[in-house]
Amino acid sequence: MPPADAGGALVSSLPGVGPALGEALRKLGLERVQDLWFHLPLRYEDRTRLTPIGDLRIGETAQVDGVVETVERGFRFRPQLRVTIRDGSQATLTLRFFHFNRSQAEQFVPGTRFVCFGEVRYGQAGPEIVHPAYRRVVGDIVTLEDRLTPVYPTTEGLGQKRLAAVVQRALDRLPSDAELELVPAPLRESLHLASLREALLAVHRPEPGDDVAALALGRHPAQQRLAFEELLTHHLGLKRLRAQVRRHRAPALLGDGRLRVALRDGLPFALTQAQARVAAEIERDLGSASPMLRLVQGDVGSGKTVVAALAALAAVECGWQAALVAPTELLAEQHWRNFDAWMRPLGIEPVWLSGKVQGRAREKARASVAGGAPIVIGTHALIQEGVEFHRLGLAIIDEQHRFGVHQRLTLSEKGRDGDIVPHQLVLTATPIPRTLAMTAYADLDVSVIDELPPGRTPVQTVAISDARRGAVIERIRAACAEGRQAYWVCTLIEESEQLEAQAAEVAFAELTAALPELRIGLVHGRLKAKEKQAAMEAFKAGETRLLVATTVIEVGVDVPNASLMVIENAERLGLAQLHQLRGRVGRGRAASSCVLLYRNPLSQMARARLEVMRETGDGFRIAEKDLELRGPGELLGTRQTGQLQFRVADLARDAHLLPDVQRIGETLLREYPGLAQKLMARWIGAAARYVDA
Ligand code: ADP
Ligand code: MG
Repeated sequence: MPPADAGGALVSSLPGVGPALGEALRKLGLERVQDLWFHLPLRYEDRTRLTPIGDLRIGETAQVDGVVETVERGFRFRPQLRVTIRDGSQATLTLRFFHFNRSQAEQFVPGTRFVCFGEVRYGQAGPEIVHPAYRRVVGDIVTLEDRLTPVYPTTEGLGQKRLAAVVQRALDRLPSDAELELVPAPLRESLHLASLREALLAVHRPEPGDDVAALALGRHPAQQRLAFEELLTHHLGLKRLRAQVRRHRAPALLGDGRLRVALRDGLPFALTQAQARVAAEIERDLGSASPMLRLVQGDVGSGKTVVAALAALAAVECGWQAALVAPTELLAEQHWRNFDAWMRPLGIEPVWLSGKVQGRAREKARASVAGGAPIVIGTHALIQEGVEFHRLGLAIIDEQHRFGVHQRLTLSEKGRDGDIVPHQLVLTATPIPRTLAMTAYADLDVSVIDELPPGRTPVQTVAISDARRGAVIERIRAACAEGRQAYWVCTLIEESEQLEAQAAEVAFAELTAALPELRIGLVHGRLKAKEKQAAMEAFKAGETRLLVATTVIEVGVDVPNASLMVIENAERLGLAQLHQLRGRVGRGRAASSCVLLYRNPLSQMARARLEVMRETGDGFRIAEKDLELRGPGELLGTRQTGQLQFRVADLARDAHLLPDVQRIGETLLREYPGLAQKLMARWIGAAARYVDA
């Protein structure tokens, strides 16, 4: 429990916070007054000025002041309310509502005046704003805000205004820096950090004359001050987690090497030098009684799977179990097939366990895991309730960027037996620049497989406008006529499996009509596991020549004869994801190519990204570029997991802070060990308190 100081007091001690509001705040993890201080704005809205309708630009967020001219209620596909307003610039703007109630609709009477705020879009009849924020102007005077309006992360049922008001009340209790600062003064001084109190006030109550652009970009000194502390907290948190795990013991998996040698002897290829080096690093860790916490980074196709299999066999040789967890069913299943093919000759049958294994099969799989089956492979289901291991010695987690730190811990916890915890091996195909890795994975040691197996041909990449779709289809026809195979990948920016599946169905119909001579397969996330499996197998066996797919094929799919890939809407994807996708071709000896289909108009950023893809096939270079151009959210795939979601920090923008974060972090851990806890209580708030409870 934090001390009962100003910040440690419960939010209910603030004026106006009753049980209902308290409950809504609790849902946001805001339980104490200091949680509100550190509940930082997501962004700001500029309601300090009005823009003449005639000057509105598409895509900009603006505030306008106009008189209602027409009101139309209609029903096209769904109910709609359309209101046009006109202002002194003699231009009109449409306000469009899809959700509205009667009293709302009745407010808009021709001749009445409104101030509206929102993002301007391109509409049928000129500019429009969908669901603007609006207020009626009574009398002649329009009052404007005199400072930027912070927009906070919130939850259903808690409006911005109410939340902002509570934050303001909490700020009235903000103490002096002497009480607020946690980073000891001597360390702070070496960094020239701004005052924390000033920084908090500045982000919650921007000054009227404040640098709007800097605030919008997160480069305001106040935001940088907070970003530093947040990154430091994150770093310390991971380091502390590591220290906690390392306090436990792990089984020393020395083994006699019998199974590992047999596996290597049975492979149709020799390990690359990089694979051998990383395998040796892992073996060294496994042989120690201190738990391994190691990340293996390796570009797509660098051969991480076999390295993981060798690690698993080290555990088996010593009579311990190894578990491999993958983010998707498809990927887990592919791992299982690989492991099964490699290990059956050694007398080992890996157990397959996923969410879709149900009923008796599930019971049987669970029983064999509990009974000590040497190798278990599966999806998340593995780490969820109900699966008990006999003695888990090694947990392997593939594609870490889709898992949270938390999930990693759960698997490790599963295998915990008193003081003994399993070793952890994390595989990721997302190459991450070093400074970033040191923060994002501060709890792990890192090994890099920086070499591809021999015989790979670079993938020739071109960017083609969707207007020339016909020519691209011809290209597929030609490639398939030569006996090659192709992928057509449908992507959507929204992480909606359903929409993506629809897009794939549409493309499938289009391509089936255009290429009647070809057998075409279809795989997307809405198909049953069996159907997906069948589609993949038919493609692998060469029965289908073209596979229309969604990004479910992103990771791990391996069909060497496929040498052409078309990616739709390539301009909307992050570089890391494009690189992953493209890694599905160029696996065999034939020259491979990748067509990035884009829609015009291309933004400058999109153009730059496609250019990077054409220029290089090196995952690390692409990662650096991605970081530069777009930021780490995409790179680390965190949008899906919520992992590494910072309140104010942005790893790409604030990368210049990382060396100091790392340096100060080491000193703090050494000389002020209690501090990490306090910083975490402040920044991670309720979540950290529960972890420690
Ligand atoms: P990733 O690192 O992307 O997971 P995989 O482990 O799936 O890569 O390996 C990609 C392909 O390369 C697989 O078909 C695998 O059998 C093959 N492979 C792995 N290591 C070697 C090697 N040293 N020489 C040749 N082929 C290899
Ligand atoms: Mg893989």
